Amino acid sequence: MKIIVCIKQVPGTNEVKMDPVTNTIIRENIESIINPFDTYAIEEAVRIKENMGAEVIGLSMGIPAAEEILREAISLGIDKGFLLSDRKFAGADTLATSYTLSLGVKKIKDFDLIICGKQASDGDTAQVGPSLAKTLGIAYVTDISKIIEINENNIRCMKITDDGYEEILLTLPALITVVKEINMPRLPSIKRMKIAQDSQVEILTFNDVEADENRLGLKGSPTQVRKTFIPIHNINNEMIEGSEKAEKLASILLGKIRRS
Ligand SMILES: Cc1cc2nc3c(=O)[nH]c(=O)nc-3n(C[C@H](O)[C@H](O)[C@H](O)COP(=O)(O)OP(=O)(O)OC[C@H]3O[C@@H](n4cnc5c(N)ncnc54)[C@H](O)[C@@H]3O)c2cc1C
Repeated sequence: MKIIVCIKQVPGTNEVKMDPVTNTIIRENIESIINPFDTYAIEEAVRIKENMGAEVIGLSMGIPAAEEILREAISLGIDKGFLLSDRKFAGADTLATSYTLSLGVKKIKDFDLIICGKQASDGDTAQVGPSLAKTLGIAYVTDISKIIEINENNIRCMKITDDGYEEILLTLPALITVVKEINMPRLPSIKRMKIAQDSQVEILTFNDVEADENRLGLKGSPTQVRKTFIPIHNINNEMIEGSEKAEKLASILLGKIRRS
């Protein structure tokens, strides 16, 4: 079995700066971490490997420094990392990101399962998993909290919904996105850290994949951030003092309703 885990590098801080010209996040020279949801995806893939044998490959699209998070993922148990990195991939929205990731998946070939995090902590759209599955033409299910059973042909899993849980059976190859309830990610062992240090992350540039240039990066992104700002919340607190607070509150609210 071959499992691909999509791993995104995200800022490890809330102090992110935006490029005033392109309105994209400035990712250079800031501390970066593995997207927290992707650590659950990594752990789940590694558990499948330990239980039934599998090759686990990490795939990321990002700046050259994202190689470090793939190396960290190797220290957490994945076997190999691929990084899609090229100026032509930069500035991608979710559509261009999933298209670019699909090129990496095609390069890796013959996969059975793709595991993504539920969402990224910076972009936060939760669109890339479903969009990647759509681009590859495979089945997908989001918000998985448990893999009940997996074999060479199928995966049976539990999806969290607003009302409870759904049990879903998917034919492989397929893609799932996982939520934090699925497991407790492990810490890297010294042995794995040593392996990670000596491992090669394979860099895939524009020339290594068969890409339609018009679908990449800013050029291939139909959505673009026009403006970013921190919303201003004007909250006027009114303190109700003294006795009979409930009556006073009711009359204030009734007055507001009548005026509106
Ligand atoms: C309207 C809009 C416009 C945007 N415009 C721009 C823009 O002009 N320029 C720009 O730089 N950014 C832009 N972004 C941000 C950019 O689209 C996202 O950072 C990127 O596409 C990933 O989406 P996300 O962060 O929402 O990931 P999500 O969809 O929330 O991520 C879900 C999962 O997909 C996988 N995943 C996501 N991204 C990657 C990755 N790069 N590598 C590997 N796995 C991944 C991970 O498993 C992750 O857990 C825009 C976002 C929006 C919503």
